[in-house]
Amino acid sequence: MRCPFCAHQETSVLESRVAEDGQSLRRRRECQKCQKRFTTFERVEGPTVFVIKRDGGRVPFDREKIVTGVIKSFDKRPVSIDLIRQLADEVEREVRRREVSEIPSKTIGKMVLRRLRNIDRVAWLRFASVYFELSDITEFEKLFEKIGN
Ligand SMILES: [Zn+2]
Repeated sequence: MRCPFCAHQETSVLESRVAEDGQSLRRRRECQKCQKRFTTFERVEGPTVFVIKRDGGRVPFDREKIVTGVIKSFDKRPVSIDLIRQLADEVEREVRRREVSEIPSKTIGKMVLRRLRNIDRVAWLRFASVYFELSDITEFEKLFEKIGN
């Protein structure tokens, strides 16, 4: 584990404990060279789930992509990053619970939207328009009918 301050490779673990979600291990580390301290999280990785994109291509599921996408939809609106991370964690758990090896990107988009709707309506709309590539109001209306409001 490289030190984020000086890139030294040797660090010692000061403390390990299970994080709040019960699925990751939080470690407090200290760099053996510069003595600065930092935290790492180790997560349990299930088998890789592939996301089927609109064009038919497949990419490995990546929770961080959800985080990035949701952050974009909150542009300048107040929100805590922790809340967004929690949302992404929940979506990942929902994906894993399905025990499938691949899942359409639209299904993931809907999982995100379902949660986003209760957090921020503007972010929800922005995410929907980007995710479903909505270009006109008719498509928006169709989407509203489909997922409700
Ligand atoms: Zn260091």
